[in-house]
Amino acid sequence: MSVLIVGSTALDSITTPHAKNPRLLGGSASHAAVAASFFSPVRMVGVVGDDFPRNYLKLYRKHKIDLEGLQIVPGKTFHWAGEYEVNMNNRRTLATELGVFESFTPRLPEAYKDTEYVLLANIAPSLQHHVLDQMRRPKFIAADTMDLWLNIALQDLLKLLKRVDCLVLNEGEARQLTKEHNLVRAAKAIHKLGPAYVIVKKGEHGAILSSQAGMFVSPAYPLCKVIDPTGAGDAFVGGMMGYLAAAGGAVDGKLRRAMIYGSVVASFCCEGFGLQATTKATRARIDSRVKELEALTKF
Ligand code: AMP
Repeated sequence: MSVLIVGSTALDSITTPHAKNPRLLGGSASHAAVAASFFSPVRMVGVVGDDFPRNYLKLYRKHKIDLEGLQIVPGKTFHWAGEYEVNMNNRRTLATELGVFESFTPRLPEAYKDTEYVLLANIAPSLQHHVLDQMRRPKFIAADTMDLWLNIALQDLLKLLKRVDCLVLNEGEARQLTKEHNLVRAAKAIHKLGPAYVIVKKGEHGAILSSQAGMFVSPAYPLCKVIDPTGAGDAFVGGMMGYLAAAGGAVDGKLRRAMIYGSVVASFCCEGFGLQATTKATRARIDSRVKELEALTKF
């Protein structure tokens, strides 16, 4: 089963206390698509400018990502620049240059419209709506978002929540959206806005799932060294959706394991700049870390 992913396809300039890396392959859709590709075929919807390096297209192809839904148009690719502090948990956005995303209208190739698993990775909610408008009957729709859209596109986002099965957001965003400091109460408040499944990401402390079946706490894989956490949230949700699409069947029985796989792919993401470490992962290395996580959390 394929997974359809729409989101940002970007050039990221990332500064950490140890290094500066300009114009890496990044974007929510890129991170999520590569993560999902370890489990299932991926169809990607996005836009890049004519400045987008050809070797980045090759990298998508190496992961067998279907690029029929990726538009290449005259202009500049979306560029994001961020800087991390010493502890790598605090990040400052230095620049967000929308470039070709400013006038982007996602157009789904005919073959994409029947995709059953849809990930609306972080991008303007209006674009997420636009993709859903073109889909026939998806089986499971997950959406990611960020504080920017809570600040500037809240009404669009609230309408989107009525259309999705699962919302994935980080703890700060969950608090901002619901005005609830307690995350259990925040998750309950988000259910009332629409999604039957709510996943709150807590960075190095894992993620919490809330659904009718109850709660689940997914740990993060403990790493000795984090090189660059950019895209870890996207890798988490991409890995999770790829696993769900590959598993098929009822989501309820698979979601916990899917979150663990997502968590493990996110751990690889943190071990290199941009997508450098994620693209070197293999299904065998992912499976081996999942086993380690299982042993680490059994009692
Ligand atoms: P994360 O670390 O999971 O928050 O994801 C970081 C990725 O989000 C980077 O690769 C950026 O290119 C992308 N990104 C940053 N700002 C935006 C934005 N406003 N819209 C869409 N994607 C963004």
